[in-house]
Amino acid sequence: MSSYRGRFAPSPTGPLHLGSLVAAMASYLDAKAHQGSWLVRIEDVDFDRNVAGADQAILQSLQRCGMHSDEEILWQSQRSALYQSALDQLADHVFACSCSRKEIADSRLRAGLSDSQIYPGTCRAGIANNKAARAYRLRVPDGSAAQIEFVDRLLGPQRQDLSSAVGDFVLKRADGFWAYQLAVVVDDALQGITDVVRGADLLDSSARQIYLQQLLGYPTPRYLHVPVVTNSAGEKLSKQTGAVAFDLGNDDILQDALIPAARFLDLPLTSTPSSVAEFWSVATTLWANKMGIR
Ligand code: GLU
Repeated sequence: MSSYRGRFAPSPTGPLHLGSLVAAMASYLDAKAHQGSWLVRIEDVDFDRNVAGADQAILQSLQRCGMHSDEEILWQSQRSALYQSALDQLADHVFACSCSRKEIADSRLRAGLSDSQIYPGTCRAGIANNKAARAYRLRVPDGSAAQIEFVDRLLGPQRQDLSSAVGDFVLKRADGFWAYQLAVVVDDALQGITDVVRGADLLDSSARQIYLQQLLGYPTPRYLHVPVVTNSAGEKLSKQTGAVAFDLGNDDILQDALIPAARFLDLPLTSTPSSVAEFWSVATTLWANKMGIR
């Protein structure tokens, strides 16, 4: 085994479909091509979006596709204490915020800014009028300290100015749930993840995550963002946009799931593998060639 550690981190908002399988497959192939470990983590901190039983359905589909986590599977809902200690560690950079979405939009309009959700800084110096704290936000720096740069293994050099692109972002939400950005950074670090491979819809989150890693003294993993599968209207495939989940009982796992996902990832399969095991062996070699992994 090499020191490579990758992961697939689905939110249990519905069963596995072609879009999520592509992200799972890319992370799995990259780990195998590096002779590394591949971990599965269930990102179930958003209790409003969790769908009962979706975690087990995803895990069964992964099993059926021949993808097995090399270590114990983690559920983020059981790791609140770890997110709380990271929030405590960030205390000097965190402020309590009482603003609702409407107040944020109104205050931006009053200041002549566009009606977006980039935080206008209202509670940075403290909450006014004894209003109750709703969320906890990270104070993003101004000027050059807000510039985050990194190199994506597929998409090349990336840069984001945190202060103009996202502003002071939420670490603990008004509903008391942990924000994705904090939970993912804590878990990637505690699980020793060296390589994050995921869909390009999360490219925009990487700068926030790198900034949090820097503040918490965590190493920054390498990043690789693969294209996301879209429907005919160009929307990311999800249960809401009409993705069809795999039918575990009836699908031909090679023809209906693995081969379409590999084709989407541009892997030049020339013949139909005769088994799931053969598929993974061929696909891992093709991935290693495509990504220049020796
Ligand atoms: N849980 C996130 C999702 O399902 C993915 C997180 C990640 O890969 O960083 O969209």
